[in-house]
Order: sequence, then C-alpha cells, then structure tokens
Amino acid sequence: MTWSVVRGPQGPPRTDGLTPEYAGPKVLMPICPLCREEKTPTEFRDSHIIPEFLYEELYDKQHSLMAVATAMPALPQRRHKGIYQKDFLCADCEGQLGKHEDYLAKRLKSKVSVVPSPDATRFSGFDYRQMKLFQMSVLWRTSASTRAEFGGVVLGPRQETLRAMVANDDPGTWSDFPCVLVANPSMQARFGRQLIVTGAMARDHDAQRVAVFYFGGFFWWFFVSSRAARSERAPFFLREDGILSIIRSDDPPWPWLA
Ligand SMILES: [Zn+2]
Repeated sequence: MTWSVVRGPQGPPRTDGLTPEYAGPKVLMPICPLCREEKTPTEFRDSHIIPEFLYEELYDKQHSLMAVATAMPALPQRRHKGIYQKDFLCADCEGQLGKHEDYLAKRLKSKVSVVPSPDATRFSGFDYRQMKLFQMSVLWRTSASTRAEFGGVVLGPRQETLRAMVANDDPGTWSDFPCVLVANPSMQARFGRQLIVTGAMARDHDAQRVAVFYFGGFFWWFFVSSRAARSERAPFFLREDGILSIIRSDDPPWPWLA
C-alpha cells in the first residue's frame, strides 16, 4: 500500500465554481499501487515479487534461499520464504494476478509440444493472454516494489503505461512490453534454478532498453521501450498464436558471476 490520498471535511462552497479546499484534519488513506483505489488496511496482502513456484527448488533444508541482487554482487543473501513485500497489493489485485500465475504453474506441469525451429526452442499451446499478463505483472511488481533488491528496475514513464495495462488485465499486442526467455547453458549447469538476479537495466546490442532478470533457471529480458517491435529479438517474443520461444545464449553473464 501507499499512503497518498488526502481526505478531510470539505470547506465551504466557493463562488468561482472551483472545488472547495478540504478543511479540518487531514487523513492519509491507503491506496493500492496497482488499481489505485482506496482500501482499508485489512484489505492488503503480503505479495511475493517473483512467484514462488519459479524457484521452489531453491529451498534448502532450512527452507531458505539464496538471492543475489545485482546491487550487492559480492554478498549473496539468504532469505526466508522468497522475496515478499508486506501489505503490497489489495486482495482483489492479488487475486487477479494470481490467476495468471496459477495458469503458468499448471502449464509447466503439463505436456508441451515443441515446434521445430533452427534458431530457438519453441513451444506451442500457450494462452497468449495469460502468459503475457504473467510476464508483464512480474515486470510491474519489480518496478513498483520498494524492496531494495529491486531498486535496479527503473522503467521511467513506461511504468505507468505498464501499470494501467496490468490493472486492466490488458495483455496488449505482442510488441507491448515483450519478454524474451534466454537459456544460458553454463548458468544452468552452475546454478540450475538456484539463483535469482533481481533485475538490472541494460541495453541490448541494438540499443533497446531491457530489464534483465534471472530466475526459474532462465534469463528474462523484458523490453521496455515503445519501439520494441523493431528489436532484433522480435521473432522470439511471445505471439498471439501462443508460441513461446526460448533462445540459447552462451554469452558470459555479468562479470561478477564469471
Ligand atoms: Zn488493488
């Protein structure tokens, strides 16, 4: 929740037609950062920022996990129960985003069909709307979170565009906030799913602005620009036909991981 709506008794009517000023004591009402509606404090829920099912294998015997934030490369941190933000979203918004997470969690456990392709591994049968909104909601959560681990995710004015789309359950078209999944064999061999990189802004080689994460055993490159359709990676964006592509890259990851 954020505390940003001022309320108080309204002052006397004005003769110039403008809205009267509030008078008397001012009260800060909690609002949900996704739907922007006023809610009572009990309506807020603790929210994970990156869904737990994507790093279930991270839990060791002590039920803690290793999270590595790009801002603190030398200090892997142990955290309990994933990375949560207390009282982040209202219950309605949590429920709305939870549907897309449930979809992906079930989809990952079901059979997949591979479409032959020379340049990527392509899986068919994804529900574009659910999968796209899942990806967009992860990006939005990280950008809106006030947790220090996600301080590297800075979307600028695009954050509000993204918020409105996620709040309205609008997946947009394939070139709106697209995401490319990247498998890096050396990273997978070394860490499996046991690593989270909590996001950093970078430039792809054709200068497109991307927010880069590592979780669930993959890099997730979120294209933030409104020019994303022109990216050289556009053939690998999730499309309305439900084909999800995973490209392979042996490029070395961040130097501190080498
Ligand atoms: Zn809400």
